[in-house]
Amino acid sequence: MAVQNYDVVTIGGGIAAASLAKAMAEHGAAVLILEKEQRFKDRVRGEGVVPWGVAEARELGILERLRAACGHDVRLVEGGMGPRDLAATTPQRLPCLSFAHQEMQETLLAAAEAAGVQVRRGITVDRIEPGLPATVVVDGDNREYISARLVVAADGRGSQSRKWGGFTVCERSNDYYMAGVLLSDVHSSPDLMCFIFNPQFGMCVGLVPIGKNRHRAYFMYPKASGYRLQGEQMLSLFIRESARCYPVLSDCYAAAKSIGPLASLDVNDSWVDHPYQDGIALIGDAAATTDPTFGQGLSLALRESCATS
Ligand SMILES: Cc1cc2nc3c(=O)[nH]c(=O)nc-3n(C[C@H](O)[C@H](O)[C@H](O)COP(=O)(O)OP(=O)(O)OC[C@H]3O[C@@H](n4cnc5c(N)ncnc54)[C@H](O)[C@@H]3O)c2cc1C
Repeated sequence: MAVQNYDVVTIGGGIAAASLAKAMAEHGAAVLILEKEQRFKDRVRGEGVVPWGVAEARELGILERLRAACGHDVRLVEGGMGPRDLAATTPQRLPCLSFAHQEMQETLLAAAEAAGVQVRRGITVDRIEPGLPATVVVDGDNREYISARLVVAADGRGSQSRKWGGFTVCERSNDYYMAGVLLSDVHSSPDLMCFIFNPQFGMCVGLVPIGKNRHRAYFMYPKASGYRLQGEQMLSLFIRESARCYPVLSDCYAAAKSIGPLASLDVNDSWVDHPYQDGIALIGDAAATTDPTFGQGLSLALRESCATS
């Protein structure tokens, strides 16, 4: 058993944890990140930061690093009424920033490490003992107790930390699933992303270029539709239904190939009203998962990191 002390320990190494950890280390804090994945795989998550979130990234000093390593500027957004030039029409005068989620996570963890954060990968936190200081427990071959002046739980939308910390979780169910898949060879401008709602079918599509001939394609469909878009065998239905929702996509997807798993998520909202108690602060999706059709989760995580640091 080893006991270690830090100013800040984060549970998770996603956008919320890594950006906060980097900022705290730059302010002189001793910070440790515990991330369960040794290597990040493609997963269906957010990959487009809206202009106000890009401004937060700039404030945190990570914008240019993201741009250089994995980021892709997306100037135009199509919402069904013709393309809008974001850099010309938003208060921030900035485009969206997109990336492959796993590449963004690697980039931000490297940035945190360069700022002096200790990053431990392949470490799964098993519980938190609340208190002042709170203690993080890692069970493994050698059980470890790691205490910190502040434990930051940033373990994402399935957060166990909420339970360990004794937080009351509020929930609201949504009546749709959100499917996503990474595609190559989509016939669409790398400068343009689309989010189109089709009220007639109660469906929505999203298409986000992330550079290197890749697009993240999303499709939101009612739970009552009778199917669940999951796995390679459902890809043709994903493409067909997306094109039914927004006919322009039948041309965009004509030569597209899937280069990642097709997955559907139940995107119920869940949140904690007061995300701090007993030495534990929740940030990012652990604090609140917002409806991903609004595409604000990454930006909110960045704003929380900016505000907390
Ligand atoms: C389908 C979908 C589409 C979305 N689209 C958009 C979009 O277009 N734009 C947008 O802004 N947002 C979008 N979002 C939301 C966005 O992806 C999230 O808000 C954001 O990724 C949250 O970041 P996070 O760091 O809080 O959590 P995560 O990215 O989930 O990171 C949590 C990390 O914690 C680690 N972890 C978990 N448990 C443990 C443990 N016990 N021990 C150690 N490590 C642990 C995980 O491995 C992971 O690396 C979307 C979400 C979904 C589901």
